[in-house]
Amino acid sequence: MKIAKNTVVSVNYKLSDAQNNLIEDGAQPMVYLHGGYENTLPKIEEELDGKDVGYTSTIQIEPEDAFGDYDPNLVKVEERNRLPEPIEVGMQFEGVAEGSDEEPVIFTVTEIADDKVVLDGNHPLAGMALRFDLSVIDVRAATPEEIAHGHVHGAHGHEHGHEDIEDSEPGDHFRSQPLQ
Ligand SMILES: [Zn+2]
Repeated sequence: MKIAKNTVVSVNYKLSDAQNNLIEDGAQPMVYLHGGYENTLPKIEEELDGKDVGYTSTIQIEPEDAFGDYDPNLVKVEERNRLPEPIEVGMQFEGVAEGSDEEPVIFTVTEIADDKVVLDGNHPLAGMALRFDLSVIDVRAATPEEIAHGHVHGAHGHEHGHEDIEDSEPGDHFRSQPLQ
């Protein structure tokens, strides 16, 4: 079966930066609902559209097509006593960036001094060109329920009841490892 809108694609991947430094060696395949549901990066969907099991490819995705440019305005220093304890580098908090349109931002703790904490609201992969080695291992038709929910169920997919959940923005798969 060829990859098309409303197919569920399983793809083995390896993620490196443009200098070929390994960022994430996908121990588990990425399994996503194809067709513009924002379950993976649009450039990956574009690359795989119309392809079949066995297709392999290496693509490089520039920051503007991945997690955006690095924005120094999203870095802020916070009083340590305003944050929960214990606190450690790599922890993430949801907050609102100053001067923003109040879109919530995930802040990652990047530095801790005695009484100050540096919070970085950039995605850990912001500003980086990303190189994906992709290898398609399975393609199946999505179920009507998966199409209605806009994401994959079952093995490697979302495990949940029938309540609707709001999650799963592009790149969630690659947020699992905080990067220095
Ligand atoms: Zn669901």
